[in-house]
Amino acid sequence: MRLPYFDYTTATRLPEVLSLLNEYQEEAVLMGGGTDLIPALKRRLLKPRLVIDLAKIPVLRYIRMDGPMVKIGAAATLNDVLTSDSIRSYFPALIQAVASIGAVSIQHHRATLVGNLMLNTRCQYYNQSQFWRSGKAPCFKAGGQTCFAEERGEKCRSVYQSDGGAALLTLTAMVHVQSVNGERIIPVADLFTGQGEKPFKLEPSEMVTEILLPIPVGVAAGSYQKLRFRSAIDYPLVGAAATVEFNKDKTGVETARLALTGVSSAPLLIRQAGVWLVKNYNPAQGPEASHQVIAEAARLAMAETQLYPVDNIGATAAYRQKMIPVMARRAITAALN
Ligand SMILES: Cc1cc2nc3c(=O)[nH]c(=O)nc-3n(C[C@H](O)[C@H](O)[C@H](O)COP(=O)(O)OP(=O)(O)OC[C@H]3O[C@@H](n4cnc5c(N)ncnc54)[C@H](O)[C@@H]3O)c2cc1C
Repeated sequence: MRLPYFDYTTATRLPEVLSLLNEYQEEAVLMGGGTDLIPALKRRLLKPRLVIDLAKIPVLRYIRMDGPMVKIGAAATLNDVLTSDSIRSYFPALIQAVASIGAVSIQHHRATLVGNLMLNTRCQYYNQSQFWRSGKAPCFKAGGQTCFAEERGEKCRSVYQSDGGAALLTLTAMVHVQSVNGERIIPVADLFTGQGEKPFKLEPSEMVTEILLPIPVGVAAGSYQKLRFRSAIDYPLVGAAATVEFNKDKTGVETARLALTGVSSAPLLIRQAGVWLVKNYNPAQGPEASHQVIAEAARLAMAETQLYPVDNIGATAAYRQKMIPVMARRAITAALN
């Protein structure tokens, strides 16, 4: 498949990029590693006038500790994340999630963590070639009035399938967003619209310049568990991330967060599961009691997501729904262990 025609910029300074975004608005797209963007361009899912390549901006490629935060620049690659000492020490759920993205070739190419977080939603009826799609009316995501994933569906049911997104949600990460008009910090939890057609709350002139990760104060642990067809390449059918912070005497957890990806148009934070674990988890009660507490937290994840999965990303909705508590349980158990 050939790429469509577009202009390609080799801007090397952030102010230049921001002013191009301001000038071109919706007609410009940002490219991190291009591992998701290029296939989308080839399929004519996007037809930008300008592609802005962030890999040409060396000042955006960093991972550094800054006071109570670790900061990850927009051009930092997945391999930069995997080999970063600070990320490895403090954020195991993120390391496991990033290690599961695509395949080693993607992680070692130029794919970025910001590009992963900003991954567009996907659907088996939308992520197809122009020729394949030409046999059907445009769906909501393509600007039409129908959804093929759900009979008489009234909204776009495309799915957010970023592995990193779920982990970042449990780590209370934030994004630094900049435009020519100024800058703002948005918690990752507030970055998503929940609507498949336009998943992010960013203006066309805005870009994410870095991800901010608060360093845990106490002893923290985490895990990411992914269900996919093959052990490499495949996007998650269900992904579960869990992050816990233990209390000082290790008799329980001070905070617990569980998030899912691959089940809705945004990553889902299962707040009730976290609250339940904080209230009820106590390892002194023995393995059987702990198992029951974790199983209940996982059941809460299933209850909260009952409305979401439909048959749109390869496995049936029923199977994905069934696997939600399984993946949630595995993630929580691994984090607590
Ligand atoms: C075969 C294959 C398998 C894959 N498997 C997985 C998988 O298992 N899990 C998974 O999560 N992903 C998977 N991916 C998708 C993709 O490779 C990764 O998500 C990757 O991390 C995306 O990063 P990138 O830098 O290449 O993003 P790009 O392709 O460059 O960009 C992705 C999106 O982010 C936007 N963007 C990029 N930078 C910014 C910025 N600074 N501000 C605002 N928006 C921005 C782009 O405009 C684009 O919409 C797969 C891709 C392929 C081709």
